[in-house]
Amino acid sequence: MSSSGVRPPHGTADIPVVTVLGGGQLGRMLALAGIPLGVRFRFLDPSPEATARDVGDLVVAPLGDAAAIDEVSAGSDVVTYEWEGVPGSAAAHLTSRVAVYPPVGALTASQDRLHEKQLFQRLGIPVPAFRAVDGVDDLRRAADEIGLPAVLKTRVGGYDGKGQVVLRELADVAGAWDALGGVPSIFESFLAFERELSVIGVRGAGGETRCWPLVENRHERGILRRSFAPAPGVDPELEARANGFMGKLLDELDYRGVLALEMFQCGDELLANEIAPRVHNSGHWTIEGAETSQFENHIRAVLGWPLGSTDARGVSVMVNCIGSLPEPERVLRVDGAHLHRYGKALRPGRKVGHVTVVAPDRGTLEARLAQLDEALPGDDG
Ligand code: AMP
Repeated sequence: MSSSGVRPPHGTADIPVVTVLGGGQLGRMLALAGIPLGVRFRFLDPSPEATARDVGDLVVAPLGDAAAIDEVSAGSDVVTYEWEGVPGSAAAHLTSRVAVYPPVGALTASQDRLHEKQLFQRLGIPVPAFRAVDGVDDLRRAADEIGLPAVLKTRVGGYDGKGQVVLRELADVAGAWDALGGVPSIFESFLAFERELSVIGVRGAGGETRCWPLVENRHERGILRRSFAPAPGVDPELEARANGFMGKLLDELDYRGVLALEMFQCGDELLANEIAPRVHNSGHWTIEGAETSQFENHIRAVLGWPLGSTDARGVSVMVNCIGSLPEPERVLRVDGAHLHRYGKALRPGRKVGHVTVVAPDRGTLEARLAQLDEALPGDDG
């Protein structure tokens, strides 16, 4: 829908309107969860093809366009976002007129890897050894002090493994600095972690906080491929620690909505990697695998409604469809399989859908997953 096609708000108190900055699959799934609750949705996205156009009104404009933001949010009960790249100034521009959740401070903290790491440190959340790096000399000093291997990441703008380079020996220093374009970065110790875990939490209007079970995430080439939920073999103490980190972050940021925290597990240690102030790919399993999905609880939280239970219903695996989609006829034959197609054009490396398989126990899940694997197309790389 063009910018002139935004429908006026209903004007009744019991039909809330939520504006979402960004109209990708996360926005689409927020609306798919909120529509049954009688919520209406509007989206702002730079692409007229934004997949959320199917589930709400779409204004097409850059996410930093102040006039478009005013238009899309006029008459809304709340503005939220589904992409952490939303310019902080654009979100801040709104706060005098309409409620914006999660708070802009969480958005800006997540946009700069140095500020994010400093936030973790301030809250006593362990992180890999790191240094801020503003030039080749800083980089050499960091390599000297922290050692190699290490990973150099741009402070802003990186995602899915982009904007980062691994250094294995001192000879890599100059090349690594140039490879990232000579921009402010952080140098981080490269961890030989056992696995990557994430915790997703939600905080409501009154400060009520809940966490979904810990999730194990397997990546390939920097992109999330599979999430296992609840993560197998988790010590209750480790889970309590992860939930403690989440609680501290939610309180410190005076948060409202869903927050994701990605971590590395090294033996008994849990080290924070990054936060995402939004619903997260590693929480897609909650649509069918939990009592209340991350999408529904985000909508409940930003509207000030009571939160739903985050308990798992059995065990789940979420498989991302990257670049290509499986045939529905084959996937849907697998018991417990739920196919989500985002309605996006297929392109290599692009997340175009996902499948969640739910089962009552791990043995059944393994058998179902083996069946699903036969139905999935080859890897698009
Ligand atoms: P990020 O963009 O920070 O999420 O990093 C993308 C991926 O790179 C992560 O999912 C890890 O697999 C890997 N990675 C990032 N930081 C480190 C690190 N300090 N040590 C080892 N691997 C890392």
